[in-house]
Amino acid sequence: MLHRVTEGDDGVPSGLAADQLRSHLQYLTDRGYQALTMDELWSCLHEGQPIPSRSVMFTIDDGFYDHHDVAAKVFDEFGFPLNFFVITGLLDNQLWPWDDQVSYALNHSRIVNSDIRLPSGKVYSVNLEIKPAKTTVKEIREALKAGPQTEIYQWLREELFGKLDVDFPASAPPEYRPMSWSDARSLRERGHGVYPHTCSHRILSTLSPAEKRQEIRDSLKRVEEELGYSPQVFAYPTGRPSDYDGDDMKELEQAGFNMVFNTVPAYVRQGQDRYQLPRYSLPESTADFLQIVNRFEAFKEKLRG
Ligand SMILES: [Zn+2]
Repeated sequence: MLHRVTEGDDGVPSGLAADQLRSHLQYLTDRGYQALTMDELWSCLHEGQPIPSRSVMFTIDDGFYDHHDVAAKVFDEFGFPLNFFVITGLLDNQLWPWDDQVSYALNHSRIVNSDIRLPSGKVYSVNLEIKPAKTTVKEIREALKAGPQTEIYQWLREELFGKLDVDFPASAPPEYRPMSWSDARSLRERGHGVYPHTCSHRILSTLSPAEKRQEIRDSLKRVEEELGYSPQVFAYPTGRPSDYDGDDMKELEQAGFNMVFNTVPAYVRQGQDRYQLPRYSLPESTADFLQIVNRFEAFKEKLRG
């Protein structure tokens, strides 16, 4: 699982350097690994065939411009497919993700001290003299993950941006701009996969049944309209097991999805719940990367067990 990928001075706030990604993919190429497409993984899981050894599959979440401009370019150099989970409201230029808005607000704050009333009703005291923006961002995001998210975009604009005296940008700031739907079409033509990742990136387990349904069905519909096919793969926003529930899985199944990814760091195994497929985050460090692709993590799990 990748997130942002950065090349040179391209304005990506933080991410994996394109050259580091190249070095990871070169390692796989040199040792004869194959990168599976989503269809290939589906055939293995569906038909009960073993997942080939020395195989990997790559996904990238959210749909920012660098995913098309940088990440896809690097994958094309190696002839590896990459699977994109896109927030359809981001590509539709309706919003940019709430967790990035928190970071933007704290990094542009004109206020040093402020008491923020969280959506849960609790008060969080910002004091940028004592606690740096980075730590504050982390703490506010964690608090928001646990609280109700129905009104989170309104809350960001009115409460967080308001209290910190930050002008709310009329559209996504350049560093958070999306790829376009035409980029997404070009990705599919080049053999990559594009799938929905909700409309707004709100955490499904915090939403009402009607909102869950709307996030799942409308993001599916947007991908169908723009890309002219019916995706059957989805990824949960934030993706910890507490971020989705049995109702979400049922809703996804009814909407026609047959593989859904979370963010639990583990290997995909035959016979696993197809509505909770795990993913390792692609690490920056070569040592960590080697441990994952050489299945050293499975060995460590066994030792711990
Ligand atoms: Zn995401």
